[in-house]
Amino acid sequence: MKVLVLNCGSSSIKYQFIDTDSRTALAKGQVERIGMSSAVLTHKPFDREKINIVGEILDHTIAIEYVIAVLLSPNHGVIKDKSEIDAVGHRVVHGGEEFSGSVLITDDVMRVLKENIELAPLHNPPNIKGIQAAQAHLPKTPQCGIFDTSFHVKMPPHAYLYGLPYELYKRYKIRRYGFHGTSHRYVSKRAANLMGKSYEELKIITCHLGNGASIAAIDHGKSIDTSMGFTPLEGLLMGTRCGDIDPALVTYIMGKEGLSLSEMNTLLNKHSGMVGLSGISSDMREIEEAAAESNKRARTALKAYNYRIKKYVGSYIAALGGLDALVFTGGIGENSVLTRKEVCENMEYLGLELDDELNQNAIGEAVLSKSSSRAKIFKIPTNEELVIALDTEQIVKGQKEN
Ligand code: ADP
Repeated sequence: MKVLVLNCGSSSIKYQFIDTDSRTALAKGQVERIGMSSAVLTHKPFDREKINIVGEILDHTIAIEYVIAVLLSPNHGVIKDKSEIDAVGHRVVHGGEEFSGSVLITDDVMRVLKENIELAPLHNPPNIKGIQAAQAHLPKTPQCGIFDTSFHVKMPPHAYLYGLPYELYKRYKIRRYGFHGTSHRYVSKRAANLMGKSYEELKIITCHLGNGASIAAIDHGKSIDTSMGFTPLEGLLMGTRCGDIDPALVTYIMGKEGLSLSEMNTLLNKHSGMVGLSGISSDMREIEEAAAESNKRARTALKAYNYRIKKYVGSYIAALGGLDALVFTGGIGENSVLTRKEVCENMEYLGLELDDELNQNAIGEAVLSKSSSRAKIFKIPTNEELVIALDTEQIVKGQKEN
């Protein structure tokens, strides 16, 4: 099956056109600066050079028209007719409590997505626009929604409830939701595969460390806890987000600095985390370079980043009551030898023994632990688009069989 995978943001759309039989992308690209007169579409067919198209792309409907046109283009395309797009899989950030798995998009699903806009005011509206635009251009093609939250939504109440008045949960659905679900699900399943064991018999911790970062505890195939919460702000230190802080600091800083609600929100989401601590960049490569050149603030920021992950790993081993595998993924998890080393340092007593040489030389999917390590340590490149395409295929095939 050939699936168009769409990830629609407020001013950008990332896409991949995936052949699920070969599990490869026939083409991938993105439209950036949607809404401006100089929007750019970057497109790369699997077997030809990348191209850039600049044009006036005023909204998501026009952006998707461009994407379909370039997929059909005689020079740069990979299909001859729109009907070769068998299905569309949409990444949707927030499924609320309603969706514990991927779904075929129906009128009812759209209604619930709109009801959930309050939970993800920045992300769900462009996701909805993307779905509507794809439906307009491909009215007969099945569309599916794959949620960042759904893998975590069935975690137990003792893990998802905050220590706040219970009425707030009932009134406003305030609880831990967790994000990056497709990535945590994909890499944990891959780990089980690489171990040659059944997913349902393992205790796995997955660290998704990209610009955003989260960690999940997966018990017998189910996420039982994760570090992001009601929003993606909670948990680990991130490129620009603060992660866990004392909640009293919010009003304290607002008072001291005279900040409005929206300014405080910007401080926590855009000027904190690694960029705030290091004063250098939100990009881990630049911080690692500065630390290697003896920049003390960069070194401390890195230590804080790795220490936070280590604390979560320890607490999730406690939550799981043991561990079979620890997985690193995302740009930093896949590439930072230092982060993996510092997270695993002195964790032998918890069954984690990192092999320095394997850690240093790991390419692609790789085991990083010593053979004596009770739990395996893996580096596994994530592939969220493939998960979206495969979920979409499963839903569409299931529909046809019914
Ligand atoms: P996103 O969350 O936007 O998908 P990525 O998963 O691509 O982000 O991760 C981006 C992060 O990965 C950046 O902080 C970048 O510096 C970091 N990164 C990429 N390559 C390396 C590397 N070789 N060493 C350390 N960090 C890296």
